[in-house]
Amino acid sequence: MTMTLSHEALEQFRQILKEREQSLREEIRQALLKADSEHYADLAGQVHDTEEASVADMLVDLNLATIDKYVEELRQVERVLGRMQEGEYGVCIDCGGPIGEARLRANPVALRCVRCQEAWEKTHAGGETPAL
Ligand SMILES: [Zn+2]
Repeated sequence: MTMTLSHEALEQFRQILKEREQSLREEIRQALLKADSEHYADLAGQVHDTEEASVADMLVDLNLATIDKYVEELRQVERVLGRMQEGEYGVCIDCGGPIGEARLRANPVALRCVRCQEAWEKTHAGGETPAL
């Protein structure tokens, strides 16, 4: 196993990821509360008119999309934290090589080295946001 990060760097990344995890949980909570109230507002008001139902559906869908994005990111943060616990943080999941500290600083949840990320993006167009 290639461990290229110092103990200090690992600890810093752990802090960054823990803070990200906390704020994502809060974002999801807020988005759910917001979705809930808008959902009920729509149900209570406009949805009585069937023509407005599609507008309400659209609003709910938008909120779900926002929550989905947070949930997706939270899932990635948790996955990365799990890998850290196994001593595999900073190790590319595809080639097993080091991801590199500079890349991790730019994107602490990176799971692949630059080369593997580029290859992955070519086969998953429109997926993860490029980190570098
Ligand atoms: Zn790689």
